[in-house]
Order: sequence, then structure tokens, then C-alpha cells
Amino acid sequence: MGVSVWRTPSFLFIIMGLFIVAIMYAVYVIARFYDSVEVLVISESAVIIIILSIGNIIIQSVEQIARANKIKSEFVTIASHQLKTPLSQMNWELEILLSKYKSGLTEKQLEIIKIIQRSHETMARLVNDLLDVARIDQGRFVLNKEKVNLLEIIDMIVEENSILAKASNVKISVIKPEKIPEITADKKRIGVAIDNLVSNAVKYIDKKGVVEIKVEADGKNINVYVKDNGVGIQEDQQDKVFQKFFRSDNAVKYQTEGTGLGLYISKNIIEQSGGKMDFKSIEGVGSDFWFSLPIS
Ligand code: ADP
Repeated sequence: MGVSVWRTPSFLFIIMGLFIVAIMYAVYVIARFYDSVEVLVISESAVIIIILSIGNIIIQSVEQIARANKIKSEFVTIASHQLKTPLSQMNWELEILLSKYKSGLTEKQLEIIKIIQRSHETMARLVNDLLDVARIDQGRFVLNKEKVNLLEIIDMIVEENSILAKASNVKISVIKPEKIPEITADKKRIGVAIDNLVSNAVKYIDKKGVVEIKVEADGKNINVYVKDNGVGIQEDQQDKVFQKFFRSDNAVKYQTEGTGLGLYISKNIIEQSGGKMDFKSIEGVGSDFWFSLPIS
């Protein structure tokens, strides 16, 4: 956390509490034996000095933790930015290799290039997610708001996820009205949030399954539900779902790939757009993630 255990605020608060109880008892004992105002004033002053001293250490520790967090966040930003350039170059070189020399490559060589491309995509996504997390933590996560039609975004995302869904034996169905009112939001970022919910729903289905996306407008908000009959999330871990880097134990068993950053970023996107995101889940039965966004 940036400070040693004995300087953490929670530890210091316990010590301060114990001190106060001990000193109050001592004052009580002293007051019983010495009927003197001076003794009482001196003991009360001692209590105040001790409380102020421990309070001061607590403030310093909190400042040190805040400084350490800031440095950590800045380190993530710098490291991720530095990784962006070689990653773009790698992608560029692979594109050239495929466009210019594809005909001269063997099946095996093409297969290897595809594997490198997939690894590149995973790394690029991780770097982008880390940059977004650092921006959120530093209060620099800016949304470019415009008029958005959620139905168009959802159609595009279903299309993009259909290949993975087909390969995983998952059927995606969409229940939506013909038309919905527009919302004011960052089109790209809202797309990221919806894609995360849909791709998670597909990803965390163990065998064959169904993902149901439902869109409805209730006059004030547009509500989007993404329901699956997948592995679900254990009840005792559900309060951590929107925390950074959280991955449930059962999800790790089924899906080794994942960073635990998607939902943290998605919830931030929805909340910064004026909406809400939450979920219900039963282990072994499935999950129902939803968000609502205000109509413009
Ligand atoms: P990632 O999927 O990369 O691990 P996310 O932030 O998107 O990260 O999700 C965090 C965790 O929440 C996942 O690792 C998984 O444990 C759980 N989770 C999210 N969506 C679902 C879902 N539809 N079904 C079951 N578990 C889920």
C-alpha cells in the first residue's frame, strides 16, 4: 500500500482507541485517589496530546498512501504508452508481411502469423484497458458525447460476437423494439461497455448456451439486459465483481484468459454517462447484467 503495516490508518485507529480507553481508565483511577483539579487537567492534556500525535501520524500515512497510488498510476500510464509504439509497429509489419508476401508463405508460416496477430490483439487490448484504468483513477477519463442510437451499436456488437458465439455453441438472441429514443453518450465507449457484457456472457458459458439481450425504453431511461445461462458467480464473491482485476474462482476454471478490467471500465463508462450498471447471478444457473442510460 506504500506504508508499513504499523503505519496503516486502520492499525493506528485501533491503537488510538486502546490508548483512549487506557487513559480514560487511568484518569478515572487518578481522580478517585487524588481530588485535585491540576492532576485532572494534566491527565486530560496528556489524552489530547496523544490523540493529536496519533492523528498526525494517520494523516501522514494517508498522504503517503495517496502519493504511492499516484506514482503507481503514473507508472502504469508511462509503461502502457511506451508499449503502444512497438505494438503498433508490430501490427504494421504483420500487415505488410501478409499483403506483400502472402503468396510466398507456406500454410504453416501463415498459421504462425495468425497466432502472432492474435497475441498482438490481446496485448493491445490489455494496454488500452490499463490506460483506461489509469485515466479513470486519475480522473482523466473523458467521454466524447454525441447523439447515439443504442440499437445500431447493439446490432454491430452482436454481429462482431457471432463468430465466437458460433464457435462456442452459443446462440445470441435480441429482443428489442422497432425504434428507441436517442441518448447522449460516447458512441465508442458505450460500444466497449456493451461488448464487454456480451462477450463475457458468451465467454462464461461452459458448454452449449443462450445469451439473451433485451432492450427497452421506460420513458426516462433505456434499459439493456444481457442474460446468460452460463457458469454464474459465487454468492460470496459477488460484491467484488466491479472491482479492478477481479476474476471469480469458477470463471478462472473455465476461462484462463481475462484481466478482470472489463467490468470496472464498463461500469465507469455507464456511470460517467449518467447511468447505472448492476447484475444478478446464481452460480451454475447464469448471470443477468444490466445497465440503464437516461434518454437525452
Ligand atoms: P475478465 O472477463 O477479463 O476476467 P471482467 O471485468 O469483464 O474481466 O469480468 C470480471 C469477472 O466477473 C470475470 O472474470 C468473471 O469472474 C465475472 N463475470 C463477468 N461476467 C460474467 C458472466 N456473464 N458470467 C459469469 N461470470 C462473469
